[in-house]
Amino acid sequence: MKPAPFEYAAPDTLEEAISLLEENEGDAKVLSGGQSLMPLLNMRLARPEVLVDLARLPDLDYVREEGGELVIGAMTRQRTVELDPIVRERHPLVYEATMNVAHPQNRNQGTFGGSLAHADPSAEYPALALALDAKFKAVGPDGERVIDADEFFVTYLTTDLEMSEILTEVRIPALPPGAAWSFTELARRHGDYALAGVTSFFTCDGGKVSSARIVLFGVGATPVRAEKAEQAMVGQSPSSALFESVGKAVLDDIEEPQSDVHASAEQRRALAGVLTTRGLGDAARRAGIAL
Ligand SMILES: Cc1cc2nc3c(=O)[nH]c(=O)nc-3n(C[C@H](O)[C@H](O)[C@H](O)COP(=O)(O)OP(=O)(O)OC[C@H]3O[C@@H](n4cnc5c(N)ncnc54)[C@H](O)[C@@H]3O)c2cc1C
Repeated sequence: MKPAPFEYAAPDTLEEAISLLEENEGDAKVLSGGQSLMPLLNMRLARPEVLVDLARLPDLDYVREEGGELVIGAMTRQRTVELDPIVRERHPLVYEATMNVAHPQNRNQGTFGGSLAHADPSAEYPALALALDAKFKAVGPDGERVIDADEFFVTYLTTDLEMSEILTEVRIPALPPGAAWSFTELARRHGDYALAGVTSFFTCDGGKVSSARIVLFGVGATPVRAEKAEQAMVGQSPSSALFESVGKAVLDDIEEPQSDVHASAEQRRALAGVLTTRGLGDAARRAGIAL
């Protein structure tokens, strides 16, 4: 199928882009890398009257570090994130998440901000952002605001961004020093969206877990933080038995996952538990923690 007819605009400034969104409120859509929007247009699941292409906007394509935080411009291609030496050397969870996003061809076009604004609950970057308490900078007709990750993802393909707001930058704190970490998912083929996945990290003090973070994806309308399971880890010695029990505990943090042609709700629940146990084990081994 071909998209329904639309007007195309490629503004040169952020202000112009925001004005176009405001003038056509509800009928305009931002275009970044097009890796999710173009299929939606082609299948006529989205029918905007105006497409506002951000490709010409200056200064939204960068990866840098500020005060230990990773700062990524919304229009930075996922492939740029993948190849950035700062990401590879100092932000391993961001690197690992990126390597699970789609295929190299998609990452060449798809942007960091586009994936987050799209907010697919099976996508890697939203889970990463929630796990690391990322902050989202949005600019709209009323100026700039910063949105916390736990408020950004509202429901399936829906964020806290207003119709006339553009996501311009994401700030991602580094992992806590010495944290054991993992990013684990199961997809039918590498590069497909995950059926379910989990990213986790924990720190230890005196041989006991002192903090833990577990975020699941593909098992709800947004990424899901498994807070009860996190609490169950704190104060315990890392062990295979603990990770088995945490794998069971995450099920209490999940409401009913979606059933679709790819997997049933039951399969996604079971995967969430297994992947949590496996991920925590991987994290411990990588950090040299004897189990
Ligand atoms: C074959 C294939 C496999 C894929 N597999 C995966 C996968 O495994 N994991 C995964 O995470 N993704 C996957 N994707 C999706 C891909 O990662 C997209 O790149 C990403 O979801 C959207 O980024 P984009 O820059 O292409 O955004 P676009 O497609 O241009 O936009 C997506 C949506 O976000 C909005 N938007 C974009 N940028 C902004 C902004 N700055 N401010 C406000 N709104 C904005 C758009 O209006 C649109 O609604 C896959 C895609 C394909 C085609």
